[in-house]
Amino acid sequence: MTTVLVVNSGSSSLKYQLLDDAEQVLASGLVERIGGEGTITHRGPGGEVSVAAPVPDHAGALALMAATFAEHGPVLAPDVVGHRVVHGGERFSAPVLVDAEVEAAVEELSVLAPLHNPPGLLGIRAARAAFPGVPQVAVFDTAFHATMPPEATTYAIDAELAAERGIRRYGFHGTSHEYVSQAAAAFLGGAGRFVVLHLGNGASACAVSDGRSIATSMGLTPLEGLVMGTRGGDLDPGAVLHLLRTGSTVEEVDTLLNRRSGLTGLTGSGDLRDVLAAAGAGDERAERALGVYAHRVRGYVGAYLAHLGGLDALVFTAGVGENSPEVRARVCAGLGHLGIELDPARNEARGRGVRRISPDDTPVAVLVVPTDEELQIARHALRTVAAAR
Ligand code: ADP
Repeated sequence: MTTVLVVNSGSSSLKYQLLDDAEQVLASGLVERIGGEGTITHRGPGGEVSVAAPVPDHAGALALMAATFAEHGPVLAPDVVGHRVVHGGERFSAPVLVDAEVEAAVEELSVLAPLHNPPGLLGIRAARAAFPGVPQVAVFDTAFHATMPPEATTYAIDAELAAERGIRRYGFHGTSHEYVSQAAAAFLGGAGRFVVLHLGNGASACAVSDGRSIATSMGLTPLEGLVMGTRGGDLDPGAVLHLLRTGSTVEEVDTLLNRRSGLTGLTGSGDLRDVLAAAGAGDERAERALGVYAHRVRGYVGAYLAHLGGLDALVFTAGVGENSPEVRARVCAGLGHLGIELDPARNEARGRGVRRISPDDTPVAVLVVPTDEELQIARHALRTVAAAR
């Protein structure tokens, strides 16, 4: 049996999953609070266990993971390790076997993703040390969007400067958009013109034409586009200049845009469940935030419908998209003239797997598709290793 270990490494946490080549999840878990008194939560054959232990760094996180596998199972002897890497820049338009040169390139790309690439690299280095001789594959969040045409990736600024500094739209959540659009195509019996709405803590929209990304809402960084948990999405760049000229430092603006904006900035909580509950109790700030959130999503749906030349499916995914009938209803309200309609009972019904939440006979199929980035990374890792043999 071939097994794949998928590692998704953040600055203070590390998520993992062990899958076999039949796409069964053998174990999964999460190491939290790396850099201090950490914890691991591990789900294996014997159910879930949670253990506290010091976790000084990412190597320590992998050591704790390996020790937990050894004690609680299953056997951890992966044939390949797949890593989530956020930014692949212009260099990586597909998953790649990691070697010293790839490591160096991921490190160089940290200037474009200072919050995300460094922890990814720490995970890769720790895993290469922990599993010597086991092939490691980097799977990039940007790669699926490499098919976007130049008009969708180009910012209208000084072209030479943009080229010199790598300033263009790259897009993120690509592994999710790819998985979800493939699952939607399988459900519908064919690819077509899809808009995928990945609405989680981070959020992005993607226009997918016959399986290829042609436009997406995140740009040079994951700050652009939709309203998110702590990021506000689209903003006049003049606001940044205004903040800098009126007393804010670069660090303060960075914190504002990455941590104190979006639902957090508007309501004090970045968790959409809190915002829905507050709005339900009559809180006007929360109601306004939901209005801004849905307004932004609808704007992208309309824009992408124009780019795609029509729409076959509107697909909701990630924490909010999969679990909130209310947000889905707010997004779709009044879009019947575009062929987008919900069946209220289907929208409200809880379910697992891919499901249609529009009536059977509407022009646009509205779907809920649970995303599975780990599975998609595992698939890419296996394929990349097989192709290299
Ligand atoms: P991440 O981007 O961290 O992977 P998720 O995709 O798990 O995030 O999405 C997290 C978001 O999903 C949170 O804002 C959370 O409030 C929201 N969410 C989860 N369950 C529900 C629910 N039942 N109703 C509304 N929002 C939900």
